[in-house]
Amino acid sequence: LASRTETRKKTVIELDDVKIGGNKPTIMAGPCAVESREQVMETAKAVRAAGATILRGGAYKPRTSPYSFQGLGEEGLQYLAEARKETGLKIVTEMMGLEQMEPVMEYTDIIQIGARNMQNYPLLSAIGELDKPVMLKRGMSATIREWLLAAEYIMEAGNHQVILCERGIRTFSEKTRNTLDLSSIPLVKELSHLPVIADPSHGTGMKKLVAPMSKAAIACGADGLILEVHPNPEEALSDGPQSLEPGEFSDLMQELSLIDSSL
Ligand code: PEP
Ligand code: MN
Repeated sequence: LASRTETRKKTVIELDDVKIGGNKPTIMAGPCAVESREQVMETAKAVRAAGATILRGGAYKPRTSPYSFQGLGEEGLQYLAEARKETGLKIVTEMMGLEQMEPVMEYTDIIQIGARNMQNYPLLSAIGELDKPVMLKRGMSATIREWLLAAEYIMEAGNHQVILCERGIRTFSEKTRNTLDLSSIPLVKELSHLPVIADPSHGTGMKKLVAPMSKAAIACGADGLILEVHPNPEEALSDGPQSLEPGEFSDLMQELSLIDSSL
């Protein structure tokens, strides 16, 4: 179902006027985690002004340590919904488990399945029964075949609105958090009709690498980007080192328009 065929070359996912997989790259931006109403609102307004059309933000966070900030839960989803109302941005947020299905379905426009859950097959099958776009992140040690077969689980259950997200894989390189596999983008676009988004924030873990990798991802055909933006990255409760400040995000958007004039 995920394979590209003569009759199915390209899937475009539409959320009102926001298209993913269309002729123009889609920019999703926002904080790693929703921390407060003010933080989300300030970030939403800034990324909207710079040209993003989708707001990202985690209310349920898959943290490496159980002692780290775990997210605001439903309260965080409400702040995202307030920001959507205020700015018109669509929302993408992570659902970590089936017990979060009800609140996430109520508030989000796109369900994010995180890298750690890419092969959580009962979760994929359950999401497959929903009528809502899903962004499936590549597992940190998943091959392209495993990633596409994970998408197949969602589609096989009936939901064909799947967006793939390359977010970097684990390699022996220790200077970066992950290795953003840029080659997967043109490769997957040849194998599948599904849109492919790049995540240079998690793909590198370093803010100074986010702009060059964003440009490279657009240049090699990504259907869009998901970028972490925080009003004060130094104080961020998660992923501060890879988060852009709003001004840096806006500068990057300018630079991206030189690579793709539709931006
Ligand atoms: C995130 O988007 O903040 C996140 C946790 O991503 P990943 O699942 O790719 O690690
Ligand atoms: Mn993050």
